[in-house]
Amino acid sequence: MKKYNFGAGPCILPREVIEKTASAILDFNGIGLSIAEISHRSKDFQPVMDEAMALVKEVLNVPEGYSVLFLGGGASLEFCMIPFNFLVKKAGYLNTGVWAKKAMKEAKLFGEVVEVASSAGENYTYLPKNFDVPTDLDYLHVTTNNTIYGTEYHKDLDVPVRLIGDMSSDIFSRPVDVSKYDCIYGGAQKNLSMAGVTFIIIKDDVLGRVQREIPTMLDYRTHIKKGSMFNTPPVVPIYTALENLRWIKANGGVEAMEKLAKERADIVYGEIDRNKLFRGTVKCEEDRSYMNICFVLNDEYAELQDEFFKFATERGMVGIKGHRDVGGFRASCYNAMTVEGCKALVETMKEFEARH
Ligand code: PLP
Repeated sequence: MKKYNFGAGPCILPREVIEKTASAILDFNGIGLSIAEISHRSKDFQPVMDEAMALVKEVLNVPEGYSVLFLGGGASLEFCMIPFNFLVKKAGYLNTGVWAKKAMKEAKLFGEVVEVASSAGENYTYLPKNFDVPTDLDYLHVTTNNTIYGTEYHKDLDVPVRLIGDMSSDIFSRPVDVSKYDCIYGGAQKNLSMAGVTFIIIKDDVLGRVQREIPTMLDYRTHIKKGSMFNTPPVVPIYTALENLRWIKANGGVEAMEKLAKERADIVYGEIDRNKLFRGTVKCEEDRSYMNICFVLNDEYAELQDEFFKFATERGMVGIKGHRDVGGFRASCYNAMTVEGCKALVETMKEFEARH
């Protein structure tokens, strides 16, 4: 049976990216060695790092004056590295979900933190808009896609301060105006690579403003100076990132990814809105994420939860269980998800409706 991977992360990657990674693990570029067993400083690996960094810049149209890093530690380590390196006095955070809250918690260790807006009171079912941003913030932190709740800022915010974006789950799914950000970061294990590498796009000239001592490994300048090779980088995930970036470029870049994301989202949300059994969990239509589509059974059908999960699993739908904070179902539709996959999910929902 064909399987459709709607998992939230780690998640679907293009098949050819997986195949190319597997091939490089067996024999990298015909050198008779695995990519996993050569030095990261070798003449064979350096071009992988160089091309991966260059492609991030090309695909996202990153302006001059920014560096790209591939580090370990996940987005969760960046939650503390960001304020360590950027918070001089006061930072603003948009509290749009669990990940945003975790980022905010770390920032409080380093200075004053203002919760500029929050949707916590309604379990993060919408995105705050039209909030006032203090103009004396060192930065405003935004989680552009809230993986757990299925809300997404589809456009870069227009605010009077510099932005820092956690783009763990929507990077490379749309064009981004990088010039608005001092830093964009995320765990790679959604739209970029397998787990194990974190991507960071950072504006060079904003570093060095904080007075505090920063441990060497947590100082972005260390990694920029050493071309992301201060210590041993996660070589295999970086190789997968390279192959995925090549794939994104070959398939029309982030403009094409955005078009496809909208097409998939229209298909799935269209069925959620039509089908008598289900409803979406996000209150405001414009906030609905293209990446993580969250839905539940309507109250009168709530007892069908386990049955639908089993029914969908038997038809090849993988990873659609909702996060425990939201319940119900979550169909994650990252770049590699096909329109065919979304149509298969819709057929499953229709068939299930016909039985009830
Ligand atoms: N931020 C967002 C938006 C996420 O979705 C996740 C994980 O799913 C994280 C941060 C945490 O990432 P990591 O597991 O790489 O630390």
